[in-house]
Amino acid sequence: MHLVLSLLLASSSVLPATVERSPAYQAELTSNAAGTTWSGRETVAFTNTSATPLPEVYLRLWGNAHGCSAVKVPGTTSDCTVAKVALPEPLTPGKRTSISFDVTLTAPYREDRFGRSGAFSFFGNALPVLAVHDGAGWHLDPDVGIGESFYTVAANFAVRLKHPAGLAVPSTGITTDGLTIAKQVRDFAWAAGPFRSTESTSPHGVKIRTWATPTVNVAGIAQEAAAAVDDFSRRFGAYPYGELDLVVNDRWTSFSGMEYPGFVLLIAPESPVVHEVAHQWWYGIVGNNEYADPWLDEAFATYASDLHDGDHRPGCWPGSLPTAITRDMGYWGAHQTSYGVYVYTYGSCALHDLERVIGGPAMARMLAAYAKAHWYGVSTPADFRAAAQAAGAPASFWASHALS
Ligand SMILES: [Zn+2]
Repeated sequence: MHLVLSLLLASSSVLPATVERSPAYQAELTSNAAGTTWSGRETVAFTNTSATPLPEVYLRLWGNAHGCSAVKVPGTTSDCTVAKVALPEPLTPGKRTSISFDVTLTAPYREDRFGRSGAFSFFGNALPVLAVHDGAGWHLDPDVGIGESFYTVAANFAVRLKHPAGLAVPSTGITTDGLTIAKQVRDFAWAAGPFRSTESTSPHGVKIRTWATPTVNVAGIAQEAAAAVDDFSRRFGAYPYGELDLVVNDRWTSFSGMEYPGFVLLIAPESPVVHEVAHQWWYGIVGNNEYADPWLDEAFATYASDLHDGDHRPGCWPGSLPTAITRDMGYWGAHQTSYGVYVYTYGSCALHDLERVIGGPAMARMLAAYAKAHWYGVSTPADFRAAAQAAGAPASFWASHALS
Protein backbone atom coordinates (compact mmCIF):
# COMPACT_ATOMS: atom_id res chain seq x y z
CA MET A 1 0.00 0.00 0.00
CA HIS A 2 0.93 3.57 -0.27
CA LEU A 3 -0.16 6.09 2.32
CA VAL A 4 1.04 9.66 2.58
CA LEU A 5 0.02 11.76 5.51
CA SER A 6 1.05 15.23 6.54
CA LEU A 7 -0.01 16.74 9.80
CA LEU A 8 -1.48 20.08 10.67
CA LEU A 9 -2.68 20.68 14.18
CA ALA A 10 -5.90 22.47 14.93
CA SER A 11 -5.97 24.78 17.91
CA SER A 12 -7.14 23.20 21.12
CA SER A 13 -10.48 24.23 22.51
CA VAL A 14 -12.32 24.00 25.79
CA LEU A 15 -15.73 22.39 25.45
CA PRO A 16 -18.51 21.99 27.99
CA ALA A 17 -18.52 18.88 30.14
CA THR A 18 -21.56 17.57 28.26
CA VAL A 19 -19.56 17.12 25.07
CA GLU A 20 -19.34 13.60 23.67
CA ARG A 21 -16.20 12.05 25.08
CA SER A 22 -15.67 9.42 22.42
CA PRO A 23 -13.52 10.29 19.40
CA ALA A 24 -15.17 11.94 16.41
CA TYR A 25 -13.74 11.53 12.93
CA GLN A 26 -14.43 13.69 9.93
CA ALA A 27 -12.97 12.95 6.52
CA GLU A 28 -13.43 14.09 2.97
CA LEU A 29 -11.69 11.86 0.44
CA THR A 30 -11.79 11.96 -3.34
CA SER A 31 -11.01 8.92 -5.46
CA ASN A 32 -9.19 8.59 -8.73
CA ALA A 33 -11.18 7.30 -11.71
CA ALA A 34 -10.61 3.64 -10.79
CA GLY A 35 -11.35 4.01 -7.06
CA THR A 36 -7.91 2.65 -6.20
CA THR A 37 -6.53 5.85 -4.61
CA TRP A 38 -8.35 8.21 -2.26
CA SER A 39 -6.96 11.45 -0.95
CA GLY A 40 -8.18 14.32 1.13
CA ARG A 41 -8.26 15.44 4.70
CA GLU A 42 -9.14 13.82 8.00
CA THR A 43 -9.87 15.38 11.38
CA VAL A 44 -10.00 13.53 14.69
CA ALA A 45 -11.49 15.14 17.79
CA PHE A 46 -10.83 13.52 21.14
CA THR A 47 -10.94 14.14 24.87
CA ASN A 48 -8.14 13.55 27.34
CA THR A 49 -9.87 11.07 29.61
CA SER A 50 -6.73 10.36 31.63
CA ALA A 51 -5.76 12.02 34.91
CA THR A 52 -2.59 13.63 33.53
CA PRO A 53 -1.86 16.14 30.75
CA LEU A 54 -1.48 14.58 27.32
CA PRO A 55 1.53 15.90 25.34
CA GLU A 56 0.95 13.79 22.25
CA VAL A 57 -1.36 11.29 20.58
CA TYR A 58 -0.70 8.40 18.24
CA LEU A 59 -2.43 7.39 15.04
CA ARG A 60 -2.59 3.80 13.85
CA LEU A 61 -1.90 3.43 10.13
CA TRP A 62 -2.81 -0.24 9.82
CA GLY A 63 -2.75 0.03 6.06
CA ASN A 64 1.03 0.20 6.28
CA ALA A 65 1.32 -3.20 7.92
CA HIS A 66 2.35 -4.96 4.73
CA GLY A 67 4.50 -2.36 3.05
CA CYS A 68 6.39 0.44 4.72
CA SER A 69 8.76 1.33 1.95
CA ALA A 70 6.48 3.70 0.05
CA VAL A 71 5.10 5.43 3.13
CA LYS A 72 6.20 8.90 4.11
CA VAL A 73 4.54 9.99 7.32
CA PRO A 74 5.90 12.73 9.58
CA GLY A 75 6.40 11.32 13.06
CA THR A 76 6.20 7.72 11.95
CA THR A 77 8.12 5.39 14.22
CA SER A 78 10.15 2.37 13.18
CA ASP A 79 6.87 0.45 13.03
CA CYS A 80 5.24 2.33 10.16
CA THR A 81 1.77 1.55 11.48
CA VAL A 82 2.31 4.19 14.17
CA ALA A 83 2.43 7.98 13.73
CA LYS A 84 3.17 10.18 16.71
CA VAL A 85 1.46 13.56 16.75
CA ALA A 86 2.81 16.10 19.24
CA LEU A 87 0.12 18.47 20.49
CA PRO A 88 0.94 22.21 20.50
CA GLU A 89 0.57 22.16 24.26
CA PRO A 90 -0.24 19.30 26.64
CA LEU A 91 -3.99 18.63 26.71
CA THR A 92 -5.42 19.08 30.19
CA PRO A 93 -7.42 16.18 31.64
CA GLY A 94 -11.06 16.41 30.60
CA LYS A 95 -10.37 18.83 27.74
CA ARG A 96 -11.07 18.13 24.11
CA THR A 97 -9.13 19.03 20.99
CA SER A 98 -8.67 17.85 17.42
CA ILE A 99 -5.93 17.13 14.93
CA SER A 100 -6.24 17.39 11.15
CA PHE A 101 -4.05 15.91 8.46
CA ASP A 102 -3.89 15.20 4.75
CA VAL A 103 -4.21 11.57 3.83
CA THR A 104 -3.71 9.54 0.67
CA LEU A 105 -4.65 5.86 0.54
CA THR A 106 -3.73 3.60 -2.35
CA ALA A 107 -4.96 0.02 -2.28
CA PRO A 108 -2.05 -2.38 -2.77
CA TYR A 109 -2.20 -5.32 -5.18
CA ARG A 110 -3.18 -7.86 -2.55
CA GLU A 111 -6.15 -10.14 -1.98
CA ASP A 112 -6.85 -8.58 1.36
CA ARG A 113 -9.10 -6.34 3.41
CA PHE A 114 -6.92 -3.45 2.30
CA GLY A 115 -6.14 -4.45 -1.22
CA ARG A 116 -6.99 -4.41 -4.86
CA SER A 117 -8.09 -7.17 -7.19
CA GLY A 118 -8.70 -6.16 -10.77
CA ALA A 119 -11.31 -3.40 -10.87
CA PHE A 120 -12.26 -3.86 -7.20
CA SER A 121 -10.55 -2.12 -4.29
CA PHE A 122 -11.10 -2.66 -0.57
CA PHE A 123 -10.32 -0.17 2.19
CA GLY A 124 -10.50 -2.09 5.44
CA ASN A 125 -8.32 -0.79 8.29
CA ALA A 126 -7.08 1.80 5.82
CA LEU A 127 -8.34 5.06 7.30
CA PRO A 128 -5.98 6.26 10.08
CA VAL A 129 -7.50 5.86 13.54
CA LEU A 130 -6.54 7.12 16.96
CA ALA A 131 -4.54 4.67 19.08
CA VAL A 132 -6.12 3.76 22.42
CA HIS A 133 -4.68 5.33 25.54
CA ASP A 134 -5.74 3.94 28.90
CA GLY A 135 -4.34 3.08 32.31
CA ALA A 136 -1.74 0.88 30.63
CA GLY A 137 -0.56 3.76 28.44
CA TRP A 138 -0.64 3.85 24.64
CA HIS A 139 -1.55 0.67 22.81
CA LEU A 140 0.92 0.52 19.92
CA ASP A 141 1.12 -3.23 19.36
CA PRO A 142 2.17 -4.43 15.91
CA ASP A 143 0.07 -6.22 13.30
CA VAL A 144 1.48 -9.76 13.56
CA GLY A 145 0.32 -10.73 10.08
CA ILE A 146 -2.53 -13.09 11.01
CA GLY A 147 -5.94 -12.39 12.49
CA GLU A 148 -6.52 -8.94 13.94
CA SER A 149 -4.15 -6.96 16.14
CA PHE A 150 -6.44 -3.93 16.19
CA TYR A 151 -7.83 -2.04 19.14
CA THR A 152 -10.08 1.00 18.89
CA VAL A 153 -12.86 2.54 20.93
CA ALA A 154 -16.31 3.30 19.55
CA ALA A 155 -16.43 6.64 17.76
CA ASN A 156 -18.60 8.73 15.48
CA PHE A 157 -17.63 9.16 11.83
CA ALA A 158 -18.80 11.71 9.25
CA VAL A 159 -17.16 10.82 5.94
CA ARG A 160 -17.64 12.22 2.47
CA LEU A 161 -16.37 9.80 -0.19
CA LYS A 162 -16.34 11.62 -3.53
CA HIS A 163 -16.04 9.40 -6.57
CA PRO A 164 -17.02 9.08 -10.23
CA ALA A 165 -20.69 8.17 -10.69
CA GLY A 166 -19.77 4.90 -12.37
CA LEU A 167 -18.12 3.51 -9.24
CA ALA A 168 -20.16 1.72 -6.59
CA VAL A 169 -18.83 2.59 -3.12
CA PRO A 170 -20.36 0.63 -0.22
CA SER A 171 -19.18 1.63 3.24
CA THR A 172 -19.74 1.54 6.95
CA GLY A 173 -22.60 3.85 7.97
CA ILE A 174 -25.57 5.33 6.16
CA THR A 175 -25.08 7.75 3.26
CA THR A 176 -27.40 10.68 2.59
CA ASP A 177 -26.61 13.26 -0.08
CA GLY A 178 -23.02 12.07 -0.28
CA LEU A 179 -22.29 12.31 3.45
CA THR A 180 -21.88 9.04 5.33
CA ILE A 181 -22.67 9.03 9.03
CA ALA A 182 -21.71 6.16 11.33
CA LYS A 183 -22.25 6.45 15.07
CA GLN A 184 -20.56 4.40 17.76
CA VAL A 185 -18.43 2.30 15.45
CA ARG A 186 -14.84 1.13 15.91
CA ASP A 187 -13.76 1.50 12.34
CA PHE A 188 -14.85 2.84 9.00
CA ALA A 189 -14.35 0.66 5.93
CA TRP A 190 -15.36 0.94 2.29
CA ALA A 191 -14.85 -0.62 -1.12
CA ALA A 192 -14.95 0.70 -4.66
CA GLY A 193 -15.55 -0.89 -8.03
CA PRO A 194 -18.18 -1.96 -10.54
CA PHE A 195 -20.12 -3.98 -7.95
CA ARG A 196 -23.65 -5.18 -8.67
CA SER A 197 -25.92 -4.32 -5.77
CA THR A 198 -29.16 -5.62 -4.29
CA GLU A 199 -31.25 -4.43 -1.38
CA SER A 200 -33.62 -6.29 0.90
CA THR A 201 -34.92 -6.02 4.45
CA SER A 202 -34.69 -8.64 7.17
CA PRO A 203 -37.96 -9.76 8.82
CA HIS A 204 -37.11 -7.49 11.77
CA GLY A 205 -36.30 -4.46 9.67
CA VAL A 206 -32.53 -4.39 9.08
CA LYS A 207 -31.67 -3.26 5.57
CA ILE A 208 -29.38 -5.83 3.92
CA ARG A 209 -27.44 -4.57 0.93
CA THR A 210 -25.15 -6.72 -1.17
CA TRP A 211 -22.33 -5.49 -3.35
CA ALA A 212 -20.91 -8.25 -5.47
CA THR A 213 -18.51 -8.97 -8.27
CA PRO A 214 -20.57 -9.76 -11.38
CA THR A 215 -20.48 -13.55 -11.24
CA VAL A 216 -21.63 -13.99 -7.63
CA ASN A 217 -25.11 -15.27 -6.80
CA VAL A 218 -25.93 -13.22 -3.70
CA ALA A 219 -29.51 -14.33 -2.97
CA GLY A 220 -28.57 -17.04 -0.47
CA ILE A 221 -25.92 -14.89 1.20
CA ALA A 222 -28.38 -12.02 1.75
CA GLN A 223 -30.95 -14.42 3.25
CA GLU A 224 -28.36 -15.97 5.55
CA ALA A 225 -27.23 -12.55 6.73
CA ALA A 226 -30.81 -11.40 7.34
CA ALA A 227 -31.59 -14.49 9.42
CA ALA A 228 -28.36 -14.11 11.39
CA VAL A 229 -28.73 -10.40 12.12
CA ASP A 230 -32.28 -10.96 13.40
CA ASP A 231 -31.27 -14.00 15.45
CA PHE A 232 -28.31 -12.25 17.08
CA SER A 233 -30.46 -9.16 17.72
CA ARG A 234 -32.83 -11.38 19.68
CA ARG A 235 -30.00 -13.09 21.57
CA PHE A 236 -27.58 -10.23 22.26
CA GLY A 237 -29.49 -6.95 21.79
CA ALA A 238 -30.94 -5.18 18.73
CA TYR A 239 -28.55 -4.47 15.86
CA PRO A 240 -28.11 -0.70 16.15
CA TYR A 241 -26.76 0.38 12.77
CA GLY A 242 -29.90 0.08 10.61
CA GLU A 243 -28.10 -1.24 7.56
CA LEU A 244 -25.67 -4.06 6.88
CA ASP A 245 -23.55 -4.07 3.73
CA LEU A 246 -22.21 -7.38 2.44
CA VAL A 247 -19.37 -6.96 -0.02
CA VAL A 248 -18.96 -10.27 -1.79
CA ASN A 249 -16.33 -11.27 -4.25
CA ASP A 250 -15.45 -14.51 -5.95
CA ARG A 251 -12.03 -13.44 -7.18
CA TRP A 252 -10.07 -14.00 -4.01
CA THR A 253 -8.41 -17.28 -3.13
CA SER A 254 -6.47 -16.38 0.00
CA PHE A 255 -8.91 -14.50 2.20
CA SER A 256 -12.33 -15.57 3.44
CA GLY A 257 -13.98 -12.68 5.25
CA MET A 258 -13.56 -9.68 7.48
CA GLU A 259 -15.84 -7.80 9.79
CA TYR A 260 -16.28 -4.05 10.03
CA PRO A 261 -19.14 -2.15 11.61
CA GLY A 262 -22.15 -2.42 9.31
CA PHE A 263 -19.87 -3.70 6.57
CA VAL A 264 -18.62 -7.20 5.92
CA LEU A 265 -16.14 -8.46 3.34
CA LEU A 266 -16.83 -12.00 2.11
CA ILE A 267 -15.62 -14.40 -0.50
CA ALA A 268 -18.08 -16.52 -2.47
CA PRO A 269 -19.40 -19.11 -2.75
CA GLU A 270 -18.19 -20.43 0.64
CA SER A 271 -18.93 -17.28 2.64
CA PRO A 272 -18.44 -17.26 6.42
CA VAL A 273 -21.45 -14.93 6.53
CA VAL A 274 -22.94 -15.95 9.89
CA HIS A 275 -19.54 -15.72 11.61
CA GLU A 276 -18.87 -12.25 10.23
CA VAL A 277 -22.37 -11.06 11.13
CA ALA A 278 -21.79 -12.35 14.68
CA HIS A 279 -18.75 -10.06 14.86
CA GLN A 280 -21.12 -7.10 14.64
CA TRP A 281 -21.73 -7.85 18.33
CA TRP A 282 -18.43 -9.52 19.33
CA TYR A 283 -15.72 -7.02 18.35
CA GLY A 284 -18.11 -4.33 17.05
CA ILE A 285 -20.78 -3.48 19.61
CA VAL A 286 -18.96 -5.20 22.49
CA GLY A 287 -15.36 -4.24 21.87
CA ASN A 288 -12.14 -5.81 23.05
CA ASN A 289 -8.43 -5.32 22.63
CA GLU A 290 -8.01 -7.65 19.66
CA TYR A 291 -4.24 -7.82 20.13
CA ALA A 292 -4.36 -8.72 23.82
CA ASP A 293 -7.52 -10.84 23.86
CA PRO A 294 -8.35 -12.22 20.41
CA TRP A 295 -10.48 -14.99 21.93
CA LEU A 296 -12.93 -12.41 23.29
CA ASP A 297 -14.22 -11.78 19.78
CA GLU A 298 -13.22 -14.85 17.73
CA ALA A 299 -14.36 -17.54 20.18
CA PHE A 300 -17.59 -15.61 20.77
CA ALA A 301 -18.31 -15.12 17.06
CA THR A 302 -17.69 -18.82 16.47
CA TYR A 303 -19.89 -19.82 19.42
CA ALA A 304 -22.65 -17.44 18.26
CA SER A 305 -22.49 -18.91 14.78
CA ASP A 306 -22.85 -22.41 16.28
CA LEU A 307 -25.88 -21.26 18.29
CA HIS A 308 -27.44 -19.88 15.14
CA ASP A 309 -26.88 -23.23 13.45
CA GLY A 310 -28.28 -25.14 16.45
CA ASP A 311 -24.93 -26.90 16.93
CA HIS A 312 -23.91 -27.28 20.58
CA ARG A 313 -20.83 -29.34 19.75
CA PRO A 314 -21.15 -32.00 22.43
CA GLY A 315 -17.86 -33.61 23.40
CA CYS A 316 -15.79 -30.96 21.64
CA TRP A 317 -13.46 -30.20 24.56
CA PRO A 318 -10.09 -31.95 24.07
CA GLY A 319 -9.59 -32.63 27.79
CA SER A 320 -6.50 -30.58 28.45
CA LEU A 321 -4.38 -28.14 26.50
CA PRO A 322 -0.68 -27.37 26.79
CA THR A 323 -1.22 -23.64 26.38
CA ALA A 324 -3.96 -21.13 27.14
CA ILE A 325 -6.67 -20.06 24.72
CA THR A 326 -6.28 -16.56 26.17
CA ARG A 327 -2.83 -15.80 24.73
CA ASP A 328 -2.28 -12.55 22.84
CA MET A 329 -1.59 -12.06 19.14
CA GLY A 330 2.13 -11.81 19.83
CA TYR A 331 2.02 -15.45 20.89
CA TRP A 332 -0.23 -16.56 18.03
CA GLY A 333 1.90 -14.70 15.53
CA ALA A 334 4.80 -16.91 16.65
CA HIS A 335 2.58 -20.04 16.74
CA GLN A 336 0.47 -19.52 13.67
CA THR A 337 -0.57 -23.12 13.16
CA SER A 338 -2.18 -23.15 16.63
CA TYR A 339 -4.07 -19.87 16.33
CA GLY A 340 -7.21 -21.10 14.58
CA VAL A 341 -7.69 -24.29 16.52
CA TYR A 342 -7.07 -22.70 19.93
CA VAL A 343 -8.80 -19.35 19.58
CA TYR A 344 -11.74 -20.31 17.35
CA THR A 345 -12.29 -24.04 17.87
CA TYR A 346 -11.25 -24.63 21.49
CA GLY A 347 -12.30 -21.11 22.49
CA SER A 348 -15.83 -21.64 21.24
CA CYS A 349 -15.85 -25.13 22.74
CA ALA A 350 -15.04 -23.62 26.13
CA LEU A 351 -18.14 -21.45 25.73
CA HIS A 352 -20.23 -24.49 24.78
CA ASP A 353 -18.95 -26.24 27.89
CA LEU A 354 -19.72 -23.17 29.98
CA GLU A 355 -23.27 -23.37 28.63
CA ARG A 356 -23.39 -27.06 29.62
CA VAL A 357 -22.20 -26.18 33.14
CA ILE A 358 -24.52 -23.27 33.92
CA GLY A 359 -27.39 -24.28 31.63
CA GLY A 360 -28.67 -22.86 28.35
CA PRO A 361 -31.13 -20.30 29.80
CA ALA A 362 -28.54 -18.95 32.28
CA MET A 363 -25.94 -18.73 29.50
CA ALA A 364 -28.37 -16.85 27.25
CA ARG A 365 -29.32 -14.40 30.02
CA MET A 366 -25.68 -13.90 30.97
CA LEU A 367 -24.58 -13.14 27.38
CA ALA A 368 -27.44 -10.68 26.83
CA ALA A 369 -26.61 -8.89 30.10
CA TYR A 370 -22.86 -8.97 29.34
CA ALA A 371 -23.50 -7.41 25.91
CA LYS A 372 -25.71 -4.75 27.45
CA ALA A 373 -23.14 -3.94 30.16
CA HIS A 374 -20.39 -3.39 27.56
CA TRP A 375 -22.52 -1.98 24.70
CA TYR A 376 -20.22 0.30 22.65
CA GLY A 377 -17.57 -0.24 25.32
CA VAL A 378 -14.56 -2.50 25.77
CA SER A 379 -14.74 -5.80 27.61
CA THR A 380 -11.86 -7.66 29.23
CA PRO A 381 -11.33 -11.30 30.20
CA ALA A 382 -11.90 -10.29 33.84
CA ASP A 383 -15.25 -8.71 32.89
CA PHE A 384 -16.37 -11.88 31.18
CA ARG A 385 -15.15 -14.10 33.98
CA ALA A 386 -17.06 -12.00 36.53
CA ALA A 387 -20.23 -12.19 34.43
CA ALA A 388 -19.92 -15.95 34.01
CA GLN A 389 -19.20 -16.60 37.67
CA ALA A 390 -22.14 -14.41 38.67
CA ALA A 391 -24.23 -16.67 36.41
CA GLY A 392 -23.07 -19.76 38.25
CA ALA A 393 -19.78 -20.80 36.63
CA PRO A 394 -17.38 -22.34 39.17
CA ALA A 395 -13.97 -20.68 39.52
CA SER A 396 -12.37 -23.99 38.53
CA PHE A 397 -13.85 -23.67 35.04
CA TRP A 398 -11.12 -21.23 33.98
CA ALA A 399 -8.23 -23.56 34.73
CA SER A 400 -10.05 -26.63 33.40
CA HIS A 401 -10.70 -24.86 30.08
CA ALA A 402 -7.32 -23.21 29.48
CA LEU A 403 -8.79 -19.74 30.03
CA SER A 404 -6.19 -18.59 32.53
ZN1 LIG B 1 -13.80 -13.95 13.10
